[in-house]
Amino acid sequence: MINRFLGLLLLFISSFNLAIAQQSNSSSLIKLKIDKLGTLGTVLYFAAHPDDENTRLISWLANDRKYRTAYLSLTRGDGGQNLLGTEQGIELGLIRTQELLAARGIDKGEQFFSAAYDFGFSKTHEETFSFWQKEDILREAVYLIRKLHPDVIINRFPPDSRGGHGHHQASAILAKEAYEAAADPNRFPEQLKELKPWKAKRMLWNTANFGGMNNTSDDQLKVVITDYNPLLGYSYGEISAMSRSQHKSQGFGSASNRGTTTEFFDFVAGEKATNDILDGVNTTWERLDEPTEKITQKITELQENYNVNKPENSIKTLVELHRLVKALKPSVYKENKIKDIEELILNCAGLVAEAIANKPNFVVNQPIDISNEVINRAATANVKLLSIDGKAINQQIPPNETQKFPEKKSFPDWTQPYWLEKPHSLGKFDIEDIDFGYPENPDNPKTTFVLEIEGLAIKIERPLRYRFVDPVRGEIYQPVSISPVLTASISSNQALLKTGEKKTVTLSIKNNSDQPQKSNLTFKQTDGLLISPSSASFDIPANQIVVKSFEISNPKNTESSIIQPLLDDKAIYDFKKISYQHIPDITWFPAVSLQVKALEINNPLNKIAYIHGAGDLVPLSLENIGVQVDLLNSNQLTNTNLKQYDAVIVGIRAYNVSPNANEWLPALLNYAEQGGTVLVQYNVNSKMSTSQLGPYPFEINRDRVTEEHAKVNFTNPADPILNYPNKITEKDFEGWVQERGLYFATNISSEYRTPLSMTDKDESQNKGSLLVTNYGKGKFVYTSLSFFRQLPAGVPGAYRLFVNLLAKNEKN
Ligand SMILES: [Zn+2]
Repeated sequence: MINRFLGLLLLFISSFNLAIAQQSNSSSLIKLKIDKLGTLGTVLYFAAHPDDENTRLISWLANDRKYRTAYLSLTRGDGGQNLLGTEQGIELGLIRTQELLAARGIDKGEQFFSAAYDFGFSKTHEETFSFWQKEDILREAVYLIRKLHPDVIINRFPPDSRGGHGHHQASAILAKEAYEAAADPNRFPEQLKELKPWKAKRMLWNTANFGGMNNTSDDQLKVVITDYNPLLGYSYGEISAMSRSQHKSQGFGSASNRGTTTEFFDFVAGEKATNDILDGVNTTWERLDEPTEKITQKITELQENYNVNKPENSIKTLVELHRLVKALKPSVYKENKIKDIEELILNCAGLVAEAIANKPNFVVNQPIDISNEVINRAATANVKLLSIDGKAINQQIPPNETQKFPEKKSFPDWTQPYWLEKPHSLGKFDIEDIDFGYPENPDNPKTTFVLEIEGLAIKIERPLRYRFVDPVRGEIYQPVSISPVLTASISSNQALLKTGEKKTVTLSIKNNSDQPQKSNLTFKQTDGLLISPSSASFDIPANQIVVKSFEISNPKNTESSIIQPLLDDKAIYDFKKISYQHIPDITWFPAVSLQVKALEINNPLNKIAYIHGAGDLVPLSLENIGVQVDLLNSNQLTNTNLKQYDAVIVGIRAYNVSPNANEWLPALLNYAEQGGTVLVQYNVNSKMSTSQLGPYPFEINRDRVTEEHAKVNFTNPADPILNYPNKITEKDFEGWVQERGLYFATNISSEYRTPLSMTDKDESQNKGSLLVTNYGKGKFVYTSLSFFRQLPAGVPGAYRLFVNLLAKNEKN
């Protein structure tokens, strides 16, 4: 698969991430690409997450130095926090994948990922490697190095605690091992059938002065980045800021640095560099051990004769250059430059080829009416369409007239992102039968055009897209998805049941096709649960939804089990769409199941008010235990209004994302004083819109307890919060996911009780996860415990403790 597709990766990246608008083929961009033909250097930037990469360095390497520049992000950033919406885990990783592609579309790097899953914050590389399957990730990194032949590999991080996050340290360790293993024919020899061992000239660490940690020093190798690129119309600092600002789910909008900046590099391995990061590397065509003078001459000719008003005049010379490069011995450079030349020929002709569908979603094997469109805007170029999807066309394409070639085609596979086809472990996606690295599916629906331009046949693949006009945003392109015929959504994927309790769950089954369907719903039998009715047969008209309800009970109080509904004995998948304006729409198909857990809980809460923070699923989770949650805005926080609620919850990071926490917090404190309960979830210790965090002083630092099994100690077992209405025991801290808590409180005023303490291995006990104080007639709680992860994950103990935090004190 990789041979067939890797060469197309560049084209795919540039066409997929620009789902929202067409890519510019301006004369100045073409000139830049022509200049780039003369350079054969390659740099691989290596780190762990979306946002780790140095976008200024990448844009400078790609556009000033004109090297092929790639970023390997080991993970897709699944485990971070989301400042845009409620997506977490897999869905956050899907969003960040697109954000990275959008960033690369701007800085012109290439993007790759490994199969490592971002399971959340870890403090050491040892902890990270206990989740990641190190040898598998190493194999993938080695594969990429052997595929790209980087002259220099640049790490963002050092391999020790100076790297901060355990993933960062692990990325540096893996990079170094991969650098060595890629050169060793005894390592991963199965890759050597199609690839050759490769030894990069050197490995460097791109040091930084960031977050209070300065790893730069004057004796390190320095690169001064000053240049303004007139062809792009920006300095690298400006491109960097635009690229970095694509990380919108992380709230990384950046200011432009328009002046000089210095990048620092510490030596890691290979040959030392004294003047430049590519010291001793020949980045001209002369690096090939065969005659290339004619190629160099041809590139000079292109540069000298380039006419900004008539890029099409360069087509003939580009075709001649293509013939010269084609005659070379096989190499990574040859393969890569041929693709670049072909893209340039298309750009010079102002040629657009598109595959357009009239809606965004279809089902497997559904015949789709596709409009394949080609327009040639070079008056003097001889352009012919030879074939579409292998079918001969042999038609001349006259200038400036869109030619449409309708085609009916169907696709047998749904467009599930390839890394999500199978369930994944906590540390790694389970990827089969596909070679590593792709940001997106290489085999999504597309059309293959073969064009002949000035006698040269060029094969181009274009993704099938839905094109429409939004009255506000203008013309929009979105990816086309192929779904299963029947998909279903479940009313809740968690059921928390008390002894004897029954719960009704509904399944909304959708027929996505234009044909009526018949189906039979059954359930994969699970431990001790009763499901009624246990099966149902039904008909669904085309494009309609049928709702099936069933009642579940857990008579034996089984602690945890899974109900898997089946349609015609097969697993059912949901149809999820994630839409944000800064990235293309994302569709994926998670398997539908229902996790049932026994939950013994006393819950006096009926109605809760919720103030939105950065986005979390706590309100939805509380509905699982029968609590009504009303989302309020800051104008609705009057005492009269709040009186109807048992408590007010403030969403995660509200002090960070709300512009006026300093105005609404006093209203909440007033409500507490009058007898209400206020619970504030975690915030980070920067850019808060209030300096007062609660009724009495405390501060926030970056302390976390990332080990989700870390022992939790009760500093005062008699504290009401641990006893009413639920008696909290050690068992309530079992089964937590990802972490205990983050951004703990510190310098806590003595008015607060701190009933819990906990710690990660080899650190000291920390009491900053939970602060409680009686305030006036009511109660104020600040908690850094990660309830926003535990409640959606259905952790029973987290529900019991959360209810205690919200319930009125026994005495009051
Ligand atoms: Zn990171």
